[in-house]
Amino acid sequence: ELSQGLAINRPETLLRSALVPAVTAHKYGRGHALVLSGGLARSGAARLAARAALRAGAGLVTVASPAAALAENAAHLTAIMLREVDSPHALDELLTDSRFNAVAIGPAAGVGERTARFVRSAAAAGRALVIDADALTSFAGEVHVLAEAISPARQVGVVLTPHEGEFARLFAGEVSIVGQSSKLVRAQRAAALTGATVILKGPDTVIAAPDGRAVINDNGTPWLATAGSGDVLTGLVAGLLAQGLTAYDAARGAVWLHGAAGERLGPGLIAEDLPDALPQVLKTLL
Ligand code: AMP
Ligand code: MG
Repeated sequence: ELSQGLAINRPETLLRSALVPAVTAHKYGRGHALVLSGGLARSGAARLAARAALRAGAGLVTVASPAAALAENAAHLTAIMLREVDSPHALDELLTDSRFNAVAIGPAAGVGERTARFVRSAAAAGRALVIDADALTSFAGEVHVLAEAISPARQVGVVLTPHEGEFARLFAGEVSIVGQSSKLVRAQRAAALTGATVILKGPDTVIAAPDGRAVINDNGTPWLATAGSGDVLTGLVAGLLAQGLTAYDAARGAVWLHGAAGERLGPGLIAEDLPDALPQVLKTLL
């Protein structure tokens, strides 16, 4: 149930002004999102995110993947570019190209130090960042380490997108956060502690900024409870970050677009339908 006075997520106006391309728009001016892919047989999540980022309006999207997954990605992606990135060092090199302005890390990335190092590299490069799934779990019980790692990217914008399980793992030991029953307060404290915007997902997704702003999202449908659904959300955040929205606005906009796409599809929806429902959602919105 909603706490009284809690603001509802209403990003329609901000999306309207942020997403319509200028008459003279060029793809390079619409942002370039980079999505990190998992390895062989673990790359589908990144493809879902990449397609969502492109549908959200990023001018260019690149999937960076280990050599083992390149062919798999190439077989399933067309407008999305591919780069081989086999190490955090290779990511450092790729990010010397200043046109990459938003990076998504986590979906099926694998849990461990290697993924944590990818997060460090992207943050150190000062790119807007969305951190999800395995990238969050790679810092389980070490949220202070994550906060330190992402601090160089805080100014440009960092969004964390945990579901309840990932949230509990990441903030394990932080009793003032995980011991708190209000989802709103948990998200707000998580944002304050990490310096990132937090999307605490679920039927009652809360979006909280480090400065205390917070909204609850009220669109969407339980049909969104399906494999890969969160990976699409991650891509939407990356697509909006790439277009220059602030972390808080990108988070609010992405959650709303995701919910609206889910509502439009309804029964039987699968995650790969979601990006392709966006044109209709955007058409009613813009
Ligand atoms: P993930 O668990 O990472 O795949 O993310 C699932 C996505 O689906 C998140 O955006 C959730 O907010 C959304 N979702 C999951 N269950 C529901 C539900 N019962 N009602 C509405 N949205 C949901
Ligand atoms: Mg997920």
